Amino acid sequence: MCRHLAYLGPPLCLADPVLDRPHSLLAQSWAPRDMRGGGTVNADGFGVGWYPDDEKEPLRYRQACSIWADPGFDQLARGVTGTALLAAVRSATPGMPVTELACAPFADDGLLFSHNGLIAGWPHSVATIAERLSVVELLTMAAPTDSALLWQLVRARLAEGQDMADAVAGVATEVGEAAPGSRLNLLLTDGRTIVATTWTHALAVRQDPGAVLVASEPLDDDGWTVLPDRSLVVANRDGVDVRPLTKGTA
Ligand code: GLN
Repeated sequence: MCRHLAYLGPPLCLADPVLDRPHSLLAQSWAPRDMRGGGTVNADGFGVGWYPDDEKEPLRYRQACSIWADPGFDQLARGVTGTALLAAVRSATPGMPVTELACAPFADDGLLFSHNGLIAGWPHSVATIAERLSVVELLTMAAPTDSALLWQLVRARLAEGQDMADAVAGVATEVGEAAPGSRLNLLLTDGRTIVATTWTHALAVRQDPGAVLVASEPLDDDGWTVLPDRSLVVANRDGVDVRPLTKGTA
């Protein structure tokens, strides 16, 4: 199962959480400690997104190889800073394509999104939910994967006017009920707020003055809170709100 992280705060070098911390995303890609539900390494692709500052749209870089196999990534990561970051390493669910297009972060309209997990019984289990999307929304899915469908469902709710927390909580609970046994750790940021869910997968948060990090596994030994299952996390630079994720949570 993939691993992901997001950061908000003062400008931070991408290499810090992704490459350099003791249990960085790179370390989590080949030696994850808390995978739950299968998978050993996260080597089927990776992606990083960053907001250069509070005003600019996010930029993104993805590859369909393991993060350690990309010879240019180390230098890229050391040259990039962001006031918000979202990064992910992928372990493709069996049957799903290994392609850059299936790697998080998915991006649109100033937002970055990631999913850690799988939809049980894909795709039949969520056929009825998917019918709510228009033909155009289905044909413009980034890839034929469960994660890309979840992203379309979140986008559809945002387009209806729901806020980020409502949209993410609504998709997680709706899909979780329709497809029991799913793993639905969702992660969304607009560069100012991070919204995340825990649904049968690991997630931890670390808050420092003016900054917050959310990650599948703690990046180091200090200051992390491991979050309970079925939580909705809404974090910004000033604080972190964690509440139980049930229908109508947000
Ligand atoms: N099911 C998703 C995919 O195949 C996410 C993978 C994961 O979390 N391991 O891309």
